[in-house]
Formats: sequence, structure tokens, C-alpha cells
Amino acid sequence: MSKDGRVWLSHTGLETLERCPRCFWLQYNKGIRQPEGIVSRLANRFDVILKNYFDSFRITGELPPMVTGKLDGKLQNPFQEKYFVRIDDQYGFFGKLDECLINDNSEYIPVDFKTSSSDPREKDTLSAYQSQINSYIFIIAQNKMKVAGFGYLVYVYPDQSPNLHNGFPMVIHVTKLTGDPEATSKRIANAINVLETKMPNPSSECPFCNWYEKIKLELDDKILDKKTPKVKKEIIQNLELDFG
Ligand code: SF4
Repeated sequence: MSKDGRVWLSHTGLETLERCPRCFWLQYNKGIRQPEGIVSRLANRFDVILKNYFDSFRITGELPPMVTGKLDGKLQNPFQEKYFVRIDDQYGFFGKLDECLINDNSEYIPVDFKTSSSDPREKDTLSAYQSQINSYIFIIAQNKMKVAGFGYLVYVYPDQSPNLHNGFPMVIHVTKLTGDPEATSKRIANAINVLETKMPNPSSECPFCNWYEKIKLELDDKILDKKTPKVKKEIIQNLELDFG
């Protein structure tokens, strides 16, 4: 729960919901998150370097040379990174932009940096990236700023080279995506609906809850040995209700 008492949803939260409604429900209603495991932070490092690089061009009024001719507009100056949208008294939605452009019509265009491990010129845009652009356009528009109705993904992809000793070549690939803020509105409404109802079933594709249920039964067996017959009966009835 935040200082203002609202539950603040985000694009990442909505992605969790789409992967598994139960995980989403547990995260927002109980503060229980799935352990993260071992993940690479390399993409975060790329993001920081790209943001600093773009930032260094902000006062010049020019686009950074790596994207000149690939993007419309000028870098927003000063840059607004965070946007908050109050949905109602209980819920809000927030987002953080990597970068933002303003075109000649004073319309805002969100930009997101992506580090790619496969050639972005040869693959379709992931649906999660489309949803992200939708979300960005939604939060900007809800903050009463004019939107161009599209956003950019700026991919960086390490290229092959026989001359790596001269520097690591990177492919810079830009994709322009039309956004649908209404789709974000619907996802938020669905998310609130999930949070307001009882805990959903686990995702059938995730092995963890299956593992947990087996472990729980095993542990409960051991605990049951120490219970009175009346308490044992109640526990078994509860388990049957949970998993029956
Ligand atoms: S099924 Fe997996 S993703 Fe869903 S709640 Fe269980 S652990 Fe989380």
C-alpha cells in the first residue's frame, strides 16, 4: 500500500497478471512475490548508458547521431520520466519512460530502449512491447498532454565482427509502433477486477505452485501426526476445499 492509500499498478504488474493471475493477486493483495532467481543485469546497464547518452544531447536541441534520421521530433527538455494516473480512490497506474520526443505539433512520443539478443531487424515485435507503448501513450494522455499516437522502440543489438579489437559494433534498429491507450484502460479494469475477487487458480504452465502443493501436503502430513483427531479432520477438510 502506498502513502496515498492507493494500490499502484504498472505495466510490469499487468504483464505478471497475463502470465499468472494468481501470482499477480498474491503480489498486490498480499505482498508475496515469486523469488527472482539469477538474472542478468546487462540490459539494465545498457539502459543506463543509453539514457545518459541521450541526456547529454538534450540541451543541444539535436537528436543523438546514433538515431538521427530514424526518429521524429526533439528530445523533451526537461525530461519527465514518471507519470501517475489516479484511476479511482483505491487504484492508480504509473509508468516510467526511458525517453520522450516532442514533434512539430507539440505531440509527445514515448521511446523505449531494448537490448536484443537476436537480430531485431528479423523478428516481429513482442506483444509485451506493444503493450508497453500502449501504456506509455495512456499515461501521457491521461496527464493531459497531447500524444502523437505512436511510440518508438530503439533496439541495440551486438553485431558480428572480425575486428572486435577495434570496438564492439552495435546495430541500432528503430521500430515505430502505433499505440492503443484504450487497450491499457481495459487491462487496468481487468486487473482491478482480479484483485477484487478471490485468489485465482495457478497458471497450468508454471511448475512452482504444483511443487508447493506437493510440499504442503508432505509437510501437513508431518504436522498432522502431532494433532488431535478433531483438528486433523478440520485440516483435511480445509485441504479438500483448497485443492478439491
Ligand atoms: S503458478 Fe507460478 S506464477 Fe502462478 S502463483 Fe504459482 S508460482 Fe506464481
